[in-house]
Amino acid sequence: MERLLRIADGARRRPGGVSPRHPPAAGEDPCTADTAQPEGRGQEGVDPMIQPLCRYCGKPLRKSVVTVALNSRQPKWRGGISRPDRPSSKEEAQRLFNEVIVSLRYGEDERGRYVSEVGLWDGVTYRDRFFCKGEHAQQFAYSALNYAPTLGTASYHEALKAQQEKEQS
Ligand SMILES: [Zn+2]
Repeated sequence: MERLLRIADGARRRPGGVSPRHPPAAGEDPCTADTAQPEGRGQEGVDPMIQPLCRYCGKPLRKSVVTVALNSRQPKWRGGISRPDRPSSKEEAQRLFNEVIVSLRYGEDERGRYVSEVGLWDGVTYRDRFFCKGEHAQQFAYSALNYAPTLGTASYHEALKAQQEKEQS
């Protein structure tokens, strides 16, 4: 009960700033790719070194990854990021960025194989603070209410109070 209430409170105090997103890369789970929830940066009392898990299903939460096209002067999509550098290995590519490379793709040209795309993670940000997808946030809310039926937001309790007062008069 106590914990559930604290989660509800935290949800209201989420920071508003959401950094620019990129379209889901090929092979990403379509169910989770577009659940644009505020990102989980700087969570209180959460160790950034520990992989957070979905509070509903226990699956590891997805990292917030920025994709950068390399050996390219033109982004692959509107708002995408590109760099002209042409690294030939992951080590070479990693030297170009402060963020951690968590995925990469190779391309081939007349000079041979090169790293054509990298996925960068800042080491702290996840796509969502608590859930792997919106559906699981919803399922969790139902579970929470089955467990604690009086649980509700301030708006709900105000409306409930007004309703009861109206009935009494
Ligand atoms: Zn889940």
